[in-house]
Amino acid sequence: MDIIHLLPDSVANQIAAGEVIQRPASCLKELVENSLDAGATRVQVIVRDAGRTLLQVIDDGIGMSEMDARLAFERHATSKIREAQDLFSLRTMGFRGEALASICAVAQVEMTTRRKEDETGTLIEIHGSDVVRQEPCACPVGTNIKVSNLFFNVPVRRKFLKTDQTELRNLLTEFYHIVLVYPKVAFTFVHNDEIILELPAGTEKQRIEAVFGNPKKNVYTSAFVEVKTETELVSIRGFVIKPENATKRAEQYFFVNGRYMRHPYFLKAVQTAYSGMLTADYQPSFFIYFDIAPESIDVNIHPTKTEIKFADEQTIFQILMASVREALGKFSLAPTIDFDTQGNINIPLPTDAPVSRPQLTVDTSYNPFHTRGAIYPDRAPKNWESLYDGLSETRDLEISTPRETAIPDAEHAPIWQYGGKYILMPSEEGLMLINQHRAHTAVLYAQFMEQLGNAQGAMQQLLFPEVISLPQDDMILMEQLQPDLRAIGFDLEQLSPDSYSIQGVPAQLAQQSPVPTLQHILTQVRDRNADTRQEWREQIALTLAQNAAIPYGKTLTETEMREIVEKLFALPQFRRTSDGKTIVSLMTDEEINKRF
Ligand code: ADP
Ligand code: MG
Repeated sequence: MDIIHLLPDSVANQIAAGEVIQRPASCLKELVENSLDAGATRVQVIVRDAGRTLLQVIDDGIGMSEMDARLAFERHATSKIREAQDLFSLRTMGFRGEALASICAVAQVEMTTRRKEDETGTLIEIHGSDVVRQEPCACPVGTNIKVSNLFFNVPVRRKFLKTDQTELRNLLTEFYHIVLVYPKVAFTFVHNDEIILELPAGTEKQRIEAVFGNPKKNVYTSAFVEVKTETELVSIRGFVIKPENATKRAEQYFFVNGRYMRHPYFLKAVQTAYSGMLTADYQPSFFIYFDIAPESIDVNIHPTKTEIKFADEQTIFQILMASVREALGKFSLAPTIDFDTQGNINIPLPTDAPVSRPQLTVDTSYNPFHTRGAIYPDRAPKNWESLYDGLSETRDLEISTPRETAIPDAEHAPIWQYGGKYILMPSEEGLMLINQHRAHTAVLYAQFMEQLGNAQGAMQQLLFPEVISLPQDDMILMEQLQPDLRAIGFDLEQLSPDSYSIQGVPAQLAQQSPVPTLQHILTQVRDRNADTRQEWREQIALTLAQNAAIPYGKTLTETEMREIVEKLFALPQFRRTSDGKTIVSLMTDEEINKRF
């Protein structure tokens, strides 16, 4: 008996949908891209419950005929390419003809559509790939598609969705990617009956301002300089932030031929152009638009991936870096010092370096034994910082090395500071070298976590409240983090739909400007994809600890040193930071004796 049979379309579509439609945001992306491909000049997005209950997209594009309205939901039904060759000259966002088929396999879809030349439009209703209704209807020119109860028939997917706030942020992220390349199209985004974004048609710059700033004030875009380069290979235009306006929460966008892309390699090019101009932890914001012959890029990759391959990446890297450099040099204070062009970029910036401390005197590669190493190169211990690692790497070893013997008496043992960076203290086995910033960070982290746990953060009222303005996706994030930010001592009040006033800060951070600190928290939460209360707390505690910890270069009194060390030794895990960096390193007696 033959055992192979073809899957019914509805099943095949559901399987395909798993690839194309992973969450409400991917559904939104497909729908809006279709509207743009249909030449819409106005696109309205209406969302309910972060897209779980409803995702609706209304456009004034070319619409569909009665026949096309039905065909659009078939797999591999597309009006955009006819043959494989067309793939190489793609100028539309969609081309696979999979999106609508996938969406209608996992949701209840109702669409009305009408072409200009038709008097009546078509209404079609499809539930999980079954057409339940198709009839003529009266409707405006364009397409209005309503996707209800996404994943109603795929409970696993439904369960897999994150909190409403997270899904809403994902929706906005996708939305930003699109609206930033279609400034001439007007967009609105409505969530639960509230207008979240209203974007009139305009220039790229106006669109950026409308999304991230405030179109009435134009403050946001005035922090940027323009980039513009035309070469035979590629044309690059856009905006890059003036170094002095860089923030800890950067907006970094690349677009190619009207499509958002992620490109870590080109990101390096931009960062390299900024090297030497930014304080640690500060990131350049940029909006860079590439135009390139479609045949020299490959977008025919996975539908949900945003990576794009270029034929000539090295050359574009160089062109990009030079254009950004030139833009920065032309418009802003080009640094007069001759900075190393290889710069920061090959040596990753220490993520726990102090913030809001513009003097960049920290030499993270500083090796106190350097001179000696130069004289007796064969004797210089390589990786001296990790000498202690073997002992602390595994739990077993921790246990077999009783803490009592490993820890010196922090109250009485001799103690010194070295190089503005390390605390030295003899122990039974040798000389302990303690990284002062990391040690203090670890101590504060534990304190902040405890305060978050019992909501006992100490608050310091600000004499002059500060204002933090945020794009919509960050406003949502702030709302999520509010309870914990309050618990730790921030006193925040929403001022307007896109800003908060900061009236109080955690006492430990009273010396610092709260805006970069909050931006830093938002960046961390976002970059780590923190999505549970516990993860948010960890990121908040870590960021605050890093910001409040004593920096490198600070001279410490003996009392200060003893206090840090004592608290450090009291932690259950004090040799390494939570992200695995060495806090305490030991030069064993043997190591020291060998030197002589
Ligand atoms: P693709 O966009 O890859 O062609 P889709 O499944 O997204 O595949 O859409 C299938 C077809 O339906 C499109 O090629 C287009 O002809 C038609 N279509 C979809 N959405 C719209 C719309 N909003 N306006 C006009 N036509 C549309
Ligand atoms: Mg499409």
